[in-house]
Amino acid sequence: MRIARTRRPGFTLVELLVVIGIIALLIAILLPSLSRARAQANSVKCASQMRDIGNQLMIYATANKGVLWPQKAVGGVPGFKHRGGDEQPDERWPMYVFNPPPPPGPGNRYIHPLMICPIDQDPAGDHSYNMNGVFAPLSGSRDTRKKIIRLGNKIKYYTPSEVVLMVDKWPQAPEWHLDVQWTDDALTQWDTTFCARQWDWLVFNIQSPAEEAKYKHGKSGNNYLRFDFSVSNEPPNEPRATPPRGIAKGRFIRDMAAPHTYIKE
Ligand SMILES: [Zn+2]
Repeated sequence: MRIARTRRPGFTLVELLVVIGIIALLIAILLPSLSRARAQANSVKCASQMRDIGNQLMIYATANKGVLWPQKAVGGVPGFKHRGGDEQPDERWPMYVFNPPPPPGPGNRYIHPLMICPIDQDPAGDHSYNMNGVFAPLSGSRDTRKKIIRLGNKIKYYTPSEVVLMVDKWPQAPEWHLDVQWTDDALTQWDTTFCARQWDWLVFNIQSPAEEAKYKHGKSGNNYLRFDFSVSNEPPNEPRATPPRGIAKGRFIRDMAAPHTYIKE
């Protein structure tokens, strides 16, 4: 006598494995594009923050004789300080530039949300962006303050859209500015050789990889705020083989001991 064997409803082991395999394949295909989309969204949000910071700087400059961010405190005069580490959180430039200024927050850290790039968890110095040090001579003497680049100033050999104002930094770097290799010459000869000597610094801070994150937002590069207050995502410039137009007309030669410095012939 035959016993009718009814098949229980459900999947066999093989069917189950096939289904799991297909799901795994789909995840493998979709995950990279999902993370790419997230990275893209973060880069766009970062760029938007930079645009907002640019607006605040412009408003500050309009009210302060064109100076984009306050000068470093000199002697006993109260004022802001540049560095992470040797300043109080309420002495940093966003306290002077942002309206309203950042609130104290936990531990009196005065973190401004616009100053934190969305991909930074807890960046050193409580900020993600560095100003170009060219815009604020580090010495606070009267002479160097006179040489500061102000809003509306013409910069020799460059259009405002070429000059970098602010850039995403390495999260570990505590600095509030991109470090500039200042020379006395550069400061005292502002209108003749200043920009010639400092042209790399004005365009990209290529000497300071420890501060500027060149590929913070993926393979496409990093976000830059320019002197015309535009924001763009770009790969870093490689050091130029030739100086920009105007400088190249035989008036300057390259000083090989200091490859990013130009001296008069
Ligand atoms: Zn960013």
